[in-house]
Amino acid sequence: MTQENTADVIVIGGGVAGLSTAMQLAQRGRRVIVLEREQLGNGSTGRAAGLLGQLRGTSAATQMLMDGVEIVKELEQLADVDIFVQTGSLLVAETPERVQEIVNLVKMGKSIGFDIDHLAISEVAEKLPYMKVDDLLDACYCPTDGHLQPAELVSAYIKVGRENGVRYESNCPITEICIQNGRVTGVKTEQGDFFADCVVNATGPWSYLVADLADTNLPTAALQHYYLTTRPDENHPVDRMSPAIRDRHHRIYSRPESGGLIVGIYGEETVEHDMESVAVTWDMSAMKTRRDDIFVATLIYAAQQRFPWINERTPMTITTGIMTFTPDGKPFCGKMPNVEGLFHCTGFSGHGIVQSPAIGVIMADLILDGKTNYDITAIQADRFFDLPELETRTQIKSKCYDMHAGYYGRVEGSSDSNSSNA
Ligand SMILES: Cc1cc2nc3c(=O)[nH]c(=O)nc-3n(C[C@H](O)[C@H](O)[C@H](O)COP(=O)(O)OP(=O)(O)OC[C@H]3O[C@@H](n4cnc5c(N)ncnc54)[C@H](O)[C@@H]3O)c2cc1C
Repeated sequence: MTQENTADVIVIGGGVAGLSTAMQLAQRGRRVIVLEREQLGNGSTGRAAGLLGQLRGTSAATQMLMDGVEIVKELEQLADVDIFVQTGSLLVAETPERVQEIVNLVKMGKSIGFDIDHLAISEVAEKLPYMKVDDLLDACYCPTDGHLQPAELVSAYIKVGRENGVRYESNCPITEICIQNGRVTGVKTEQGDFFADCVVNATGPWSYLVADLADTNLPTAALQHYYLTTRPDENHPVDRMSPAIRDRHHRIYSRPESGGLIVGIYGEETVEHDMESVAVTWDMSAMKTRRDDIFVATLIYAAQQRFPWINERTPMTITTGIMTFTPDGKPFCGKMPNVEGLFHCTGFSGHGIVQSPAIGVIMADLILDGKTNYDITAIQADRFFDLPELETRTQIKSKCYDMHAGYYGRVEGSSDSNSSNA
């Protein structure tokens, strides 16, 4: 056993989930090695739109994200960088049930001290002169929301992690998880063996394959996501400090970007990916899509419902990437009962950037103390363990796909609410 390749914790996967976890563990004095298949931050993380919306359908989830924004601000101090752009955000309602949703969310948010209130439509129009408002019935405003560039968050996690002794290995896919007597002992890679009695699976869309290496059935699916970014248009100027928008009725979210507008969609349909068919050197940033793709056409149509000046001739770029969905749209954080020392940190269902700061704290708590002060009932990794209806990949993919299809369609506070507010 080489001392050099021995750590207290090995984190597999260098996206925001793994990097945040590694940083938190190192800040608490643990020796951590991050092993990344390709380049750090180049998986789902590198494709994200970077919205940081704190409002969720439950107080536990909202509280976690409120803490997350504070952690990002502390990170800015530690890494000596400006990351967070606090633009505020709006949730808009154009149907009576969406109005009720806003009423419920404002009440819930206020009950935990989250800065949120209703906003008159005339004020919405003032804040967003480039947005159609004549069909809106209500809106709520969250002034402490905002966005960031995911690459800047990645750099900050790495900078602070490195200062605290984290070792990062890129181009280092793990090929085996070593287990003796039901306990994890390390991993094998093409660059040699690494040893630790704690291993974290933070491999995003690949996480079900990595779990499989430890004979663990992790119910996640890899689903494609799309957003557009318009070029600056002097007829429809977008102030860089304009609030983000969530319009769940039209299934879209939006934020300002470099004088243009990002608009993304959680549509009813999308493309499923089998990560086992992807080459080990595959680069997600090379994913391209065509303007005549049906999913892009659906995105442009949905964007046009709220921003009528956007159409198929509007100068824009399309970004696409893969998200990791779970059957209930919530992540998996913690251990499964079958392998001691193997933790999972994945399944962020489109919200891994915003969740990563607090998730790193939660993972470090669970790994070092076996418990956390956060209410993690909804995100425990073992909540579907050995469920017969989630045994096969076909069953799992179908459940995750259905969750994605209804992600923005559902109304928060209804019986099937899933806390998805991008
Ligand atoms: C288009 C798009 C827009 C998005 N917008 C937002 C947003 O606005 N806000 C938000 O909060 N979230 C957003 N998300 C979701 C967010 O990007 C993800 O939830 C988050 O990046 C997940 O991070 P992760 O670390 O779990 O996964 P990843 O970033 O995918 O990291 C996993 C890493 O594991 C590595 N890996 C895989 N297999 C192995 C192996 N065998 N050995 C070693 N390493 C391995 C991969 O190479 C990868 O780098 C968006 C996602 C997409 C695709």
